[in-house]
Amino acid sequence: MSIFNRNGSGNGYRPSVRYSALSLLRRGLSGEEWPRVWRSRELKSSYDVVIVGGGVHGLATAYYLAVNHGITNVAVLEKGYIGGGASGRNTAIIRSNYLTPEGVRFYDRSVKLYENLAADLNFNVMFSQRGHLTLAHNDGALRTSRWRAEVNKLEGVDSEVIGPEEIKGLVPFMDVSEHARYPILGALYHPPGGIIRHDAVVWGYARGADAHGVHIHQNTEVQGVDVEDGRVRGVRTNRGDIAAPVVVNCTAGWSSLISEMAGVRMPISTFPLQAAVTERVKPFLHPVVVSGTLHVYVSQTDRGELVFGASVDPFTSYSTRGSLEFIEGLAGHVLELMPSLANLRLLRQWAGLCDMTPDFAPIMGITPVDGFHVDVGWGTYGFKAGPVAGEAMADLVASGKTPEIIAAFDLARFPEGRFVGEKGAASVGH
Ligand SMILES: Cc1cc2nc3c(=O)[nH]c(=O)nc-3n(C[C@H](O)[C@H](O)[C@H](O)COP(=O)(O)OP(=O)(O)OC[C@H]3O[C@@H](n4cnc5c(N)ncnc54)[C@H](O)[C@@H]3O)c2cc1C
Repeated sequence: MSIFNRNGSGNGYRPSVRYSALSLLRRGLSGEEWPRVWRSRELKSSYDVVIVGGGVHGLATAYYLAVNHGITNVAVLEKGYIGGGASGRNTAIIRSNYLTPEGVRFYDRSVKLYENLAADLNFNVMFSQRGHLTLAHNDGALRTSRWRAEVNKLEGVDSEVIGPEEIKGLVPFMDVSEHARYPILGALYHPPGGIIRHDAVVWGYARGADAHGVHIHQNTEVQGVDVEDGRVRGVRTNRGDIAAPVVVNCTAGWSSLISEMAGVRMPISTFPLQAAVTERVKPFLHPVVVSGTLHVYVSQTDRGELVFGASVDPFTSYSTRGSLEFIEGLAGHVLELMPSLANLRLLRQWAGLCDMTPDFAPIMGITPVDGFHVDVGWGTYGFKAGPVAGEAMADLVASGKTPEIIAAFDLARFPEGRFVGEKGAASVGH
């Protein structure tokens, strides 16, 4: 017998108001208020499933539990506000041009879900598939690009290696001359890659989950996980205890702390990752550009700002403060790629937390504690995985079986030495 009450909600979307041009017009004319995107509910003393963490992973898991499996007696517990973790701080790059077949298949499923997400959620997530370029400045990087392109093609993902002239055609402002400190030899070009509006993804999943009866509790901090006879029994929070036969840890940068509460040790270290944004300029940069050698990447938003990112800070920390050292290095490296940006002003910099694993791949699935599951180890690359991770974790919770698409990412791979080596493709040069 199932431990879940299934409401059989199916695939139909049921918000209290459907967003459309007609409803915009009707409310514009009548002046009627829009309802809140998700509701505040009473915290119950028990749920069928408790999800810790209100980022894209926690909310997507809750949404797919409700929509795909009819499991709606679910609480998402968030210690701050939803999207306040890395999900609201990332640079929103979506792609699937990974290095391992397991990685490529997994992220490709996410790109496919992202392609339909606005329609599925009835929420404009502004997914812009403008192409993604990973520059190669030396023979080693070019060889890895070719390797990635071949693995991608075998998995049906559109990627190819292109030369400096084609790069110049895609990004006219790029210095592809031989005089650069690190001349550009080629690039891995991945047309389906792009950027998205990360807040909208979080809010859209929250709205969808709420519409199906999921409870989203903000300002609710998990302070302990109850385990008895090798099984999870519930969680202790700053607002009271909650009994639950299933607890899913979706807390990214904080995930080793939550797992520790359940007595599960994770091979995860938390590092800050910084990013920055400039003032708005006329659109001139279409694709996303990444340089591992220079440790930078850059994209231009629909509003015209340039968004810059880099690799993680060189020390473990739970601090989310920006540093001058980071911004100096970043600016210097961006100018090596595009010298004509010299007079552009930076507006803002910020940081988020990244849960890094030894093989740069996530840790997903069951743990030695029955009912205590993890969807963590998202490092600097987990936003793009939100939809597929949510879908797979919901399948795992509903069926009790690990879905094939996440089988390679299990926690047991570490003691057993089965790494999923994604270091060459997961993020900017580490
Ligand atoms: C600057 C930056 C740039 C990035 N760029 C990209 C990118 O371009 N593309 C990409 O794919 N990924 C990127 N990432 C990584 C990506 O943002 C994360 O991997 C992803 O958002 C993780 O989502 P999540 O839902 O697992 O975690 P989060 O969004 O971090 O959510 C976890 C939540 O758990 C909550 N929490 C923690 N402890 C508790 C507790 N005790 N009780 C209750 N709640 C708790 C936190 O408040 C937080 O809101 C970037 C990250 C950063 C910081």
